[in-house]
Amino acid sequence: MARSLDILGVRVDDVTYDEAIALIVGWIDDARRGAGGPHVVTTPNPEFVMAARRDPAFCALLHRAALNIPDGVGLLLAARLLGGRLREHVRGTDLVERLARSAADRGDRWFLLGAAPGVARAAADRLLARYPGLQIAGAEPGSPRPEDDGRVRALVAAAGRVDLLLIAYGAPTQEAWLDRNLGPLRIPVGIGVGGVFNFLSGRAPRAPLWARRLELEWLHRLVTQPWRWRRQLALPQFLALAAWAAVRRSRITNAPGPH
Ligand code: UDP
Repeated sequence: MARSLDILGVRVDDVTYDEAIALIVGWIDDARRGAGGPHVVTTPNPEFVMAARRDPAFCALLHRAALNIPDGVGLLLAARLLGGRLREHVRGTDLVERLARSAADRGDRWFLLGAAPGVARAAADRLLARYPGLQIAGAEPGSPRPEDDGRVRALVAAAGRVDLLLIAYGAPTQEAWLDRNLGPLRIPVGIGVGGVFNFLSGRAPRAPLWARRLELEWLHRLVTQPWRWRRQLALPQFLALAAWAAVRRSRITNAPGPH
């Protein structure tokens, strides 16, 4: 398993794209051999960390998850401030694209669950156009409400074998759904992907490559989806907390010894 860092109380795994893909593919292969259980993969960013600090159940769920990829450049910055290092910024959208390429070669079957009506289907169609060998078992909005779990599980189960389930209900709802339902469905891997179906389907524009290279995706999202400003306040709050934790840590490290 990968090395992990504790970022303000949340476990973030120091994986690269290649390592994350190797882990996920390995879990799917284990399941084909009849071994291993369900694996919840999450895509934490500073909003996740701030939410987990307010919500102990979400925090516990992230600690139980099989893999928490470092999505969100704020996490890499905070790691530096706290004296650690996350080697790569693993973006959920790019991880899904790379996984799709590998799944197309391997013949893996995916189910896309969540987002507004029609969006998961549109995202699936775009993926199929780009990665023709990929098998999509289903693409449905479903419902994140616990009282609908039975109905949604029946919908997914009716689609036959599913190796990987991508779910877009926003955090922490999508992670809670995976925690409740992945095991009973006997699906080896589920990834909470947030707005990824909106990007894949073209409903929301992705930041241009230059903005991604400069790690300014958060700014592009704020400009193109200004209603998110309140949610994005989590980013400066998170960085302020990380800076404060770094100062406290250095005070502890530099504290004079006994005379
Ligand atoms: N969503 C949904 N049902 C809900 C709440 C959210 O289908 O009850 C979808 C929403 O349409 C969007 C995704 O969940 O596609 C969450 O996207 P968001 O932008 O919040 O995720 P982020 O990328 O910020 O993690």
